[in-house]
Amino acid sequence: MSTSSEPQGSMADRIVVVTGGARGIGRAIVDRFAADGATVVIGDLTDPGEVGAGLDVAGHREWVPLDVTDETSVLEFAQSVEAGHGGVDVLVNNAGIMAERSITEESLAEWDLTMAVNLRGPFLMAKHLVPLMEGREGASIINMGSIEGLAANRHHAAYCASKGGVHALTRALAVDLGPIGIRCNAIAPGWIDTDLNRSYIERHPDREQVVADLARLHPVARIGDPADIAATACWLASADAGFVTGQVIQVEGGRTVRLSLPTALEP
Ligand code: NDP
Repeated sequence: MSTSSEPQGSMADRIVVVTGGARGIGRAIVDRFAADGATVVIGDLTDPGEVGAGLDVAGHREWVPLDVTDETSVLEFAQSVEAGHGGVDVLVNNAGIMAERSITEESLAEWDLTMAVNLRGPFLMAKHLVPLMEGREGASIINMGSIEGLAANRHHAAYCASKGGVHALTRALAVDLGPIGIRCNAIAPGWIDTDLNRSYIERHPDREQVVADLARLHPVARIGDPADIAATACWLASADAGFVTGQVIQVEGGRTVRLSLPTALEP
């Protein structure tokens, strides 16, 4: 007979690692997997408790300090997860940073930092966690790409290049790891309501207008919620997606399929 402390749900008995899971999209992914019964290990620079999002809700969640740019930190994280849980079923490489700079303003150090978090991070995590995933049925890696890996906003060269790299890494890992039973896919989110994007809106004097204009860019007439991405991540990790690998799944409210018109010609 089960007790309330035993995990139940479609992800019960699954060990899930989410990088950058303290807040934003990562936190929504953590909460969704935990709600579906998984045991979730958050790898983040920051203790989720410090950003006002404690782990007290349903249990089955823990934080292990992690800097995805640093191989020693990644190795220590992998050792901690192996000691605590014996293996990993799902790795979500979500941690990412974005900065707005023209190519001539961008310093080498800034370029390297974006690449280190967004692209070296998923590489190091895969390198050191794949050994913990081998032989576990239904194992999969989910990388956080972006629609900016497919098209560009101005002054986002480093970010766009890093996310294009994430999409390519996803395909390469799918090819390499498929034969040992590990699928690898990416999610390319559009505009999702998190701190990473909120600062763009907040600095505009007419916030309401910006929100309305943003909604108009999307056929679904709204920007995305972190839960939209979490739902896709859970599906990609599930047996229902067992024949899906090497894909970049766009979750962006149709923004990239809507052709733009001059304002005067908008219906
Ligand atoms: P947030 O900035 O809200 O959260 C990012 C999280 O990653 C933070 O908890 C942050 O920790 C953590 N993090 C940053 N650097 C590292 C590191 N070196 N090691 C470990 N953790 C780290 O971002 P979002 O939730 O908005 O974005 C999550 C992912 O989704 C990113 O990869 C982003 O590029 C992608 N994405 C987001 C979109 C959006 O519209 N929001 C659109 C498309 C893609 P700390 O707080 O300590 O810095």
